[in-house]
Amino acid sequence: MGPSSTRSAPLVAVVASVLVGGSMAFAPHYAAGVSAFSSSRSSSNVVGGGAVARRIGGVGVGGISSSTTTRNGRRRAAGGAVGAAPVSMGLGVALPALKWALALPTMYGLMSVNEYFTHRYYQHAEYNKDKFFQALAKTFNLPRRIRGGGHVEHHAETYDDMLLKTDDPNWMRSPAAKSLNDDPWRGTAFTWKVTGQMTLQMLFTTLPTFMGVLRFSFAQTIGILLPCMLMHALVWNALHPGMHGLPDVPLSVGAPSSTLAPFINSWYFRYLYQVS
Ligand SMILES: [Zn+2]
Ligand SMILES: [Zn+2]
Repeated sequence: MGPSSTRSAPLVAVVASVLVGGSMAFAPHYAAGVSAFSSSRSSSNVVGGGAVARRIGGVGVGGISSSTTTRNGRRRAAGGAVGAAPVSMGLGVALPALKWALALPTMYGLMSVNEYFTHRYYQHAEYNKDKFFQALAKTFNLPRRIRGGGHVEHHAETYDDMLLKTDDPNWMRSPAAKSLNDDPWRGTAFTWKVTGQMTLQMLFTTLPTFMGVLRFSFAQTIGILLPCMLMHALVWNALHPGMHGLPDVPLSVGAPSSTLAPFINSWYFRYLYQVS
């Protein structure tokens, strides 16, 4: 019982979910979190999904409140364990399946949040003028000024049709263009360094959410996070440099563009191209 029996499921699900992405259901995620917390109060030994399920089963039978019962009922239905089975048995089946089902939508949501903040405060360097981050920098003696990895320069260098202004001698004489010259991908590639930095950032939200709320182990959490981050970098490098007519990213620099190159004409990449 428990997650170990579904060990091969995560990878398949990672690929499926990262590709399909999501209009993701945070509501059931938070509902599950609330229940997991309220049920764990009754016992200090927090172990695998089975134990959590048994405890929640107890809550269901005890009938603490009508709202808890409603959430349990909804989760039972979501997990697919329907029918007239006793409540504790139904949830025993549903909860491990449910937390695996929530893992990828949740990861997708956390990655989107991380991307939003990275794009705004790092890549567009709003950090440099944001009162909160400047106060933080002062307190912890961090750098007051950051240069967002060439991202703003890359925006400036790009025509509406995604071609680059590298054919324009005036542009190429500008400081922004010159700052991109030492990068063969001109700020468009996801290098291993950037992938690593993004993964580290993700730990701040992923560890509390996955271990504290969804009750995954540390190893399981990392085992879900790393393939997701890799997948994200693979998609990015397959699409972005090529979109601007720049060379493929080799394995020595970042997640290789060639991995997903066979899919570059699929509906998914065409969809990404349109929204990006
Ligand atoms: Zn931008
Ligand atoms: Zn671009």
